[in-house]
Amino acid sequence: MNVLDLSWNLVEQSMEKVITRYCKNCGKTVEFKDSLIRRHNSNGKNIYRYAIFKCPKDHTWNQKLSIYKAYTEHAKVREELIAIENDNKYSLQIESLREQGYTQIRIKINQAYGAVRLDKMLAESLKGWSRTEIVKKIKNNEIQVNDKVCKPSQKLIKSDNITVIIT
Ligand SMILES: [Zn+2]
Repeated sequence: MNVLDLSWNLVEQSMEKVITRYCKNCGKTVEFKDSLIRRHNSNGKNIYRYAIFKCPKDHTWNQKLSIYKAYTEHAKVREELIAIENDNKYSLQIESLREQGYTQIRIKINQAYGAVRLDKMLAESLKGWSRTEIVKKIKNNEIQVNDKVCKPSQKLIKSDNITVIIT
């Protein structure tokens, strides 16, 4: 079994665009807008993925979206993730994972902001499977949360562990 381990922070889509927070440069609380630009940073052990937000005066704030373990065997997946960053979503190509011999994806939820549904999140993150197919896989027990049978509508919370079998 070849497992891809991921660690993600989830943000509900409707919440993603504007974040009200203190801007150090403006010296006050302002609305930061999602620039839709994504950036990766590495410290050797992990790859960090950020969304770049901008205040009305163009000061930037980076929101941490996800962390990928920088294991050697994940190198190709990382390249893949970086290659698709331009579509503004972090997503995984199922076909590419299959070609690389992955049989399972494990996603640990570090943080979940807002109500993020399991089926919707997976349909947006896993390219190659439609939402209908995702729902079917959840019902067939090929997708589990915390090693249990779950519902497509299940809301994801901090510390949830999602397991996806790639068949
Ligand atoms: Zn500012």
